[in-house]
Amino acid sequence: MKKVYAAPDLLSVGHVRNLLGQGGIESELRNYYLGSGAGDLPVNECWPEVWVDDVDADRAEQVIRNLQAALSTDAGPAWTCPRCGEINEGQFGECWHCGLSRSD
Ligand SMILES: [Zn+2]
Repeated sequence: MKKVYAAPDLLSVGHVRNLLGQGGIESELRNYYLGSGAGDLPVNECWPEVWVDDVDADRAEQVIRNLQAALSTDAGPAWTCPRCGEINEGQFGECWHCGLSRSD
């Protein structure tokens, strides 16, 4: 098995698993219950992870690259919050740090 993806939110992880499933790639969700351990462990080791069989890993990584490329084109460039100066990914309409709406 090989880890092909990890994200802090289950939504992204679920989306990736759906896409893999549509491509006929079986995946396994790991770390689902580890979230409550955050604080004791480095935070990115608590993220939900998507694992696939070694034979599917190349294809799975290609699916994920395509997804990330599509997301970054749709969302536009990253933007800098005028209130707190945080840099936010293009898909976010609000600053993740202070909650300021992008259109303000
Ligand atoms: Zn902000």
